[in-house]
Amino acid sequence: MVDIDELKNELVLANRILASQNVVDAFGHVSARNPNNPKRFFLSRSRSPELVEMSDIMEFDFEGNVTDGRKDPGYHERFIHAGAFEANDEVNAVVHSHALEVLPFSLSSVKLRACIHTASATGADIPVWDISDNFGDTSLLVANVAQGRDLAKTLGKNRVALMRGHGFTAVGRTLGEVLKISIYVPQNAKVQREALALGGDVKYLTPGEIAVRDADGPGGKDLFRAMQYWANKAGCSHMLEYKKK
Ligand SMILES: [Zn+2]
Repeated sequence: MVDIDELKNELVLANRILASQNVVDAFGHVSARNPNNPKRFFLSRSRSPELVEMSDIMEFDFEGNVTDGRKDPGYHERFIHAGAFEANDEVNAVVHSHALEVLPFSLSSVKLRACIHTASATGADIPVWDISDNFGDTSLLVANVAQGRDLAKTLGKNRVALMRGHGFTAVGRTLGEVLKISIYVPQNAKVQREALALGGDVKYLTPGEIAVRDADGPGGKDLFRAMQYWANKAGCSHMLEYKKK
């Protein structure tokens, strides 16, 4: 059995890191599957990620229902996480972000593609989900189980899906992996846009290059080094020491 308090500590740290790296602001969220009960997942109550604490972490099922007896319904968009965990057993962590850098690619016919090595874990394809395709005029928020499942269908076995006029959802085999993907996807978008603006041909990572880097496992070789840096930037170095307590 996995120590759930240790996982919750890691999830709080992930919230703080994503806020510190400007991947999320007042909105956006990160979740982790419950390894002791894989049909459940952990996600904060409706708070800005920068402010999330251990006591905010709640447990949900794939219908988006609270399973720990608390009265708080959680984030409005918890169905994003429910759909992603339900659709793919390999997914153990999910991030949803409204990062501005990716938004142009959610509107344009120009596709966002991995072009910098640090973003290779996004994979060869980054699909775009348009909520209006199946749900017509909405608030653009993922507000029910059907919409969460529809997004998960577009995501498929990919690691990132853009959401038209809204943001992106990323999935990972570990929290560390989904952090790395979520931090570097906006940077990849910025570099790609600048390369396109130069006007010449743009060379993207090849499927072979992506496969070589993916062979290093979730998050790559130096993930802990990155975690130390991100935790320090977020003022949370002490949270990496949790395991030693
Ligand atoms: Zn959203």
